[in-house]
Amino acid sequence: MKVLIVGAGIAGPTLAYRLQKSGHEVTIVEHAPELRSGGYLVDFWGAGFNVAEKMGIVPELRRRGYVMTEARAVNRDGRKVASFKPEAIMESEERYLSLARSDLSAVIYGAIGSVELILGDTVGALEDDGNRVRVSFDGGTNRDFDLVVGADGLHSRVRRVAFGPDDRFEKYLGMVVAAFEAERYPRRNELIAMMYADVGFQAVRLSLHDDATLFLFSLRHDGNVPTDRAAQESLLRAKLGDKGWEVPTMLDLMPNAKNFYFDSVSQIRMPSWTSGRVALVGDAAACPSFLAGQGSALAMVEAYTLAAELARTPDHRIAFARYEQRLAPLLHSKQDAAEGLGLAFAPKNRFQLFARNTVMRLMGRPKVADIVMGRSFHDAVELPPFPTTESAR
Ligand SMILES: Cc1cc2nc3c(=O)[nH]c(=O)nc-3n(C[C@H](O)[C@H](O)[C@H](O)COP(=O)(O)OP(=O)(O)OC[C@H]3O[C@@H](n4cnc5c(N)ncnc54)[C@H](O)[C@@H]3O)c2cc1C
Repeated sequence: MKVLIVGAGIAGPTLAYRLQKSGHEVTIVEHAPELRSGGYLVDFWGAGFNVAEKMGIVPELRRRGYVMTEARAVNRDGRKVASFKPEAIMESEERYLSLARSDLSAVIYGAIGSVELILGDTVGALEDDGNRVRVSFDGGTNRDFDLVVGADGLHSRVRRVAFGPDDRFEKYLGMVVAAFEAERYPRRNELIAMMYADVGFQAVRLSLHDDATLFLFSLRHDGNVPTDRAAQESLLRAKLGDKGWEVPTMLDLMPNAKNFYFDSVSQIRMPSWTSGRVALVGDAAACPSFLAGQGSALAMVEAYTLAAELARTPDHRIAFARYEQRLAPLLHSKQDAAEGLGLAFAPKNRFQLFARNTVMRLMGRPKVADIVMGRSFHDAVELPPFPTTESAR
C-alpha cells in the first residue's frame, strides 16, 4: 500500500520503519524545514523501550542519552529538601534512559533506510472516497494514497481536517510548560535532575553533554495560552521573575536561548483514532501530556502496533479496529494517571507542595513508588507479533 505519514517526530518514523519492512511504500511529510536537533529531554522506558530493542537502536540511544542517578528537590535557597534515585522506581535500571526528544527521533529515523521525506510542507485537504485518499499539500501538489496516518503531534492538522476541531478532543490541564537550553551555565550537577517547586510551578535544571544546560518550567496558568514567543517569555517572567533558587538567572538567559519550547499541557481524548482510510498515532491520537513522562515511548508502541496489525491483514478496517482495541485501555489509563500527577509538576497550594516533597522523600522505597506511580510505571500491554514471514525487527 501507499501510505502517507504526516509528521517526522517519534511515532511517524517508528511507523515508517515498520511499514517499510512489511513492503509498503511510505512517504513522510514534515512541516519543519529540517529534522530538529536539541530540545527537551524525555525519559524513556517501558513498552516503548521494547520497541526500541526490536528495532536494534538501544545502543545508539544509550550513546546519546543519560542515565540520571538522582532527582533532587531543593528549596528557594538551593538546599536539598528531598531526593530519590530514579533506578529505585523504574522496572529496571537497565531499561531506562533520558535523551533529547530530537535525538530519539533522529535515531529512529536513521534506522528506516531510504524513505521519501518531504520537508517544509504539510497536508491541506484530505478527500477519502473509500478507495483512496486524495491529499492536497500546502505546497500545491495533489497525490493519492491508500492510507494517511497523522503522526503530527498534539496540535495535529490531520486530526483537525479528518476528525474535527481541537476543542472537541483537547483537554487543557491548566498548566503550561517551557524548556530552553543555554551554554556554559556556571552551575552543573552531572546526572542529577535539580528541581525547585513552590506553589504554582516547578523549575528543573539538567546538565547536558558539551557544557549545555536544559531548563524546564511547568506552571499553573488559567486563560489563553500565548502563541508568540515574546508573549510566552513575558508570561514566564511575570509568573516566575520573583521566585527563588536560580530562577531569575535562568530567565535572564531565555531571550538568547537555543531551542525555546513553550506549549499548553493538554491531553487528547478521542472516541476513535481512525476514520475511513485515515488513522492517528502518538500525541495526535492520545497525547497523555508531558505529565505522563512517557508520551514518546507510548507513541512508539502505538506506531508499532498499528504497523503490526496492518501486516496481519490486508483489510485496513480490521487492522484499524484491532489497533484501537489493543491500545485504548492502556492509553486511557495512562491519561488518567497523568492527570493525577499535576501536583508533582506544579503544586496548587502549600498542602500539595508539602505532599510532593514528602512523597519525593519516600520515593526510593519501592512500595511507595508503586502506590504513587504504579499506573505510570507499568505498561499493561503486549506488543502484537508480526507474521512469521517477517522478522520482528
Ligand atoms: C516538556 C516535555 C517533556 C516531556 N517529557 C517526556 C518524557 O520524559 N518521556 C516521554 O516519553 N515523553 C515525554 N514528553 C512527551 C513526548 O515528547 C511526546 O509524547 C512525543 O514526542 C510524541 O511523539 P509524536 O511523534 O506523537 O509527536 P511529536 O514528537 O510532537 O512529533 C510530531 C511531528 O509532527 C510535525 N508536525 C506537526 N504538525 C505538522 C503538520 N501539520 N504537518 C507535518 N508535520 C507536522 C512536528 O514538527 C513533529 O516533527 C514530553 C513532552 C514535553 C513537551
